[in-house]
Amino acid sequence: MLGWYRDQLRQFGFVTATMLLFRVATSRILVNLANKLLPPTLSCPCCGWSGRKFYDYIEVGYTVRNAACPRCDSHPKHRQYFLWLTREYKLNKKTGVAVIFAPERAFNQVWQNTKDLRVFRVDYETTRDIDAQVDLQELALTTNAVDLVWCHQVLEHIEDDAAAMRELNRILRPDTGELVVSVPMTDAAATVEYGFPDPKESGHWRIYGDDFVTKLEASGFDVKKVDFVVSAREAAKFGTSDEAFYVCRKPSVG
Ligand SMILES: [Zn+2]
Repeated sequence: MLGWYRDQLRQFGFVTATMLLFRVATSRILVNLANKLLPPTLSCPCCGWSGRKFYDYIEVGYTVRNAACPRCDSHPKHRQYFLWLTREYKLNKKTGVAVIFAPERAFNQVWQNTKDLRVFRVDYETTRDIDAQVDLQELALTTNAVDLVWCHQVLEHIEDDAAAMRELNRILRPDTGELVVSVPMTDAAATVEYGFPDPKESGHWRIYGDDFVTKLEASGFDVKKVDFVVSAREAAKFGTSDEAFYVCRKPSVG
């Protein structure tokens, strides 16, 4: 929490950062109270937590109610990915080498449970628990060597996302390797570039449109949108979202 506050101070100054801290603290106290006093109706598939309310996700400019797991910090999309990874993708049966960009705490356990997959956790920053620091625009990783690349909500943080997509394509094993990827998207046809990392959009360089798929294809990927739905009852219980994500393969040349 202290690191988060320092970050907000740096970006927004004392008044805005302190007001934000106050809102986050008040909201958390109320959620903790609800979780103590009321019978549980929600559950986090990633870590097994159960309770009445998830934490609100509060940033400058927007708030998402009932979003983050108090124990593992999973968000609705993570809980959706987790159910897909374990139920449909059968992650525990995968073999080879996996590279996880910006590893989310909510998936620590699931990556540890993949006995035949050698998992490397990497990030541009060293604040997370990682195995190596990398720049996605210029990866120090071998060509055609990775069987699974996990890259969620990362590309929007990168200035030259075309270079990053080319690098993701380069490291992937042809034909059988898979990139699992998502970005923040709107219903618009075209991506809107900000030209700078917007602090009011969590430092994103852009918001993607439908052309995200075209961008991936231009980088050499075959792209498949993941068609995975849970029942309305489970969606309510686990607090999942149905945001789009994609599995991409690299066809071998010739
Ligand atoms: Zn959790």
